[in-house]
This record gives sequence, C-alpha cells and structure tokens, in this order.
Amino acid sequence: MGCAAARVLEFDPLEEVRRMAHEQLDQWLEQMRPLFEQEKPPTLLELSQHFTRTRPQLLGGVLQSLADALYAHLQDQRQAPCPCCGKTIRRKRRDPKRCNTLQGPVDLERGYFYCTDCRVGFHPLDQAMELSRAFHQYDVEEKVLKLATEMPYERAAELVSDLTGVPVSNRHAHQRVEQVVQLADLETVIPDRQEIRRRIAQAKKDPDDRPVLVVALDGAHAPTRSRAKRNTKRGPGKWREVKGVRLYLAPEDGRIVPLASWHQIQDAEAMKQDLQQIAARIPQDQVRIALLGDGAAWVWNTLETCFPEGRPVLDYYHCAEHVHKVADAHYGNCARAIEWVEATLARLAANQVDAVIWGLQRLQADAFARAEIDKLITYLQNHRQRIDYDACKAEGLPIGSGAIESANKFISHARLKRSGAWWQTATACCACAARCTTALSTGCSRNIGRRRSEF
Ligand SMILES: [Zn+2]
Repeated sequence: MGCAAARVLEFDPLEEVRRMAHEQLDQWLEQMRPLFEQEKPPTLLELSQHFTRTRPQLLGGVLQSLADALYAHLQDQRQAPCPCCGKTIRRKRRDPKRCNTLQGPVDLERGYFYCTDCRVGFHPLDQAMELSRAFHQYDVEEKVLKLATEMPYERAAELVSDLTGVPVSNRHAHQRVEQVVQLADLETVIPDRQEIRRRIAQAKKDPDDRPVLVVALDGAHAPTRSRAKRNTKRGPGKWREVKGVRLYLAPEDGRIVPLASWHQIQDAEAMKQDLQQIAARIPQDQVRIALLGDGAAWVWNTLETCFPEGRPVLDYYHCAEHVHKVADAHYGNCARAIEWVEATLARLAANQVDAVIWGLQRLQADAFARAEIDKLITYLQNHRQRIDYDACKAEGLPIGSGAIESANKFISHARLKRSGAWWQTATACCACAARCTTALSTGCSRNIGRRRSEF
C-alpha cells in the first residue's frame, strides 16, 4: 500500500498537463519574437489578428495534453469487453485519429477491438470521449450547421473558418451537414407532447381558458433538378411545390406562440400523414382550433381530415382577390368597381354568401366577365362554410393566413430560392427540415452522432 501511495506522489497527472501546457505556451511565445524585432510595433488590430491565427496552436496543444492525460489508460488499452457479449477481447491494432475542435486539432491513438462472436468492431476511446466519427467534432459541426441552414454549405464552411480561426474544408462540412440534416425528420423537428402542453398552458389566461390554435397550410414553389453526373446534361429544372404547415397559438393578448412548422416537397397524401402525426401530439380538447388556407382542394382535404373539430376559415385575402378579379373584369377601373367590392366583401363577412351568389348569377355581363363571375360563384359555393368572417373575428379567430405566408418566405424561399440555385428534392427537403428547427444544437447533433455510431 505504501508503495502505491509513493507512486501517486511521483506522478500527478495535473502536474504533467501543467508541464506540457507550459511547453506549448513557451513555443507559442517564441513565435512572437519577430514582433519585437520590427521597427514599429504591431497595432492592436495586428496583435489580435495574430492571436486569432495562432490560437489553435496554443489551445489545441493544451487540449491535446489534457486529452492525453485524462485518457491515457484508453489510448494504451490492450484488452476491452465486447459491448454486445461482454467477453474480454484483445486489441487488434491501434488506429490514429485526428479530431478537429474549435480549439484546434487533437491527435489520438486508440485501440481497435473486434469480437469475432458478435462480428462487431469498436474503439472504446471513441465511446468514452464521445468522438464524432467525422474529422470535425460536434462543436465545429454545430457552428457549420447553424450557418448552413442560412446559406450555401461552401459559404458556411468559409465563414466558420474565418470567424473561429479553425480551418473547415468545404468537402468535410458539406458531407457531414448533409448526413446530420438528413436526421432532422418530423420526429426531431416537432416539439414533443409535453412541450406542446407546456406552451398551451402558458398561453391560457385561466385554467378553463382554451386558447386559439391556428393551423395554417399553404404551398410555395422551389426550383428542383434531378441528380446527374458531372459534365452530363442535367436536363431542365422543375418548380415543385413545397407544402408547408404552421401551427401557432394566438392568445387574446395578441401574441403569437409558435408550436411547430413543417415544410417539405411532397404530395398531398404524404403531407396529410405528416400532419396527422403532428395532430396526434396536440391535446385538442385544450384549444379552440382555427384552420386557415387558400382555395386549394388538397389544403382543405388535409386540414379537415387531420383536425375534424377545427373551424375552417378561408383566407380573407385570397377571397378578396377573387372578388377584385370579378370587379376588374366586369366594371373595369372605376369608382363603381370599388363600391361593388366593398359591398360584396361586407356581405361575405356577414355570412351572406347565398345572397352574394344570387347577385352574381343575375349580373348582366359580357363573355369575358361572365367566365370570371362563374369562377367566383364556384369558389364561393365550395367554401361557403369557411367565410363566416364577422363571427370569426368576434370569437378571436384570425381570418388571414399571413402567418403561413411569412413562414413560407422564412423557411423555404430564403434558403431555396437563391439566384442560380437548383435543388435535388431530397436535399431541399433536408434544408427545409433543418430550418424548421432550432433544435440542431450540440445536444441534438451529439444524440444523432450516438445514433449513428450505435452497434
Ligand atoms: Zn461479443
């Protein structure tokens, strides 16, 4: 026992780190020498820039010392238990690994073990240190991810390098971001039941209050093109519909409490399935549900299937647009047209849809105006149950779908519609999913990393 105590006294791991860190500091200071030999000393800006450039050398070195000291036992490990059967296995070989962190690069030597019974290979050090399989570790990855949801991957990698002083190659960043973003599925993007309940509870003005939940659905368009090999013709691009849904609480105090956004390039059936999955997380007896959409048939089919108790509201602005079209076609640009539009919208708001239809049917019009009038009649007949605007306002329900249109702009247009950008559908869907979440923090990417490295 006395012998073991003596050994502890001889070898203090922190002392070892201190010694190595001082060595790093000395080396780092040494390369400052030329600064003292200049005729004019460097400016504060020049000094700070010098620090940014050389920081990874110093901090990476210290980090390396710490990693070596804290994980020495695993870097030299010769035997390890199999994670599947528990049998003790002898090391097969040592694999070097270079890891890029925000503090600079770290080099590790780790044992590789292979259980022939379970046919499983593993590096115990990787699990213990929770290393990313990729070169860039999660802290670097998180920064790239954050920027890559806002701008092209190349630019994101470039900016991370520029702002952190840690080199991030475009190829590495691109591959990894795509892998991680692919895991941003509906399951991870939409808050869980508990979180949704918490937000609803916060929006209530008293325990019996049922705040308004708005479910707004709409389509936008994104430029897509199929995958092709380099130097081969890709064929013409195609604009495809990005279907987006936004759910938010609209309590009486005028706030908007976001619950979820989900935007994907997909057909109506797939969107319906996704929205059903979202609807299943919502305690529908705790809220008053307003469904908002334009005139598209798939929008109403989807909304009313997923939220049968919801109150459907045809977007007022789309409705008004149709009324204006008829006024233009029938009256042209004159005071009469404005008067007619105002009177018609007022009657619609008062839920006098049948009276408006009756009036439209009796308008004496030329063939061109007649076609527009008939279109409006069909539109109003299809949506007559969704036009009760005055009643909606009285109940505190919104009548405009501006919130989904701004979500379209923010989630889909801002990232997908960049000049010269054409997207593969799958990549565009990933980019949308990533923008739907702010949950791609280190925690999330680390979980994803663990998921990826599961045996
Ligand atoms: Zn085994």
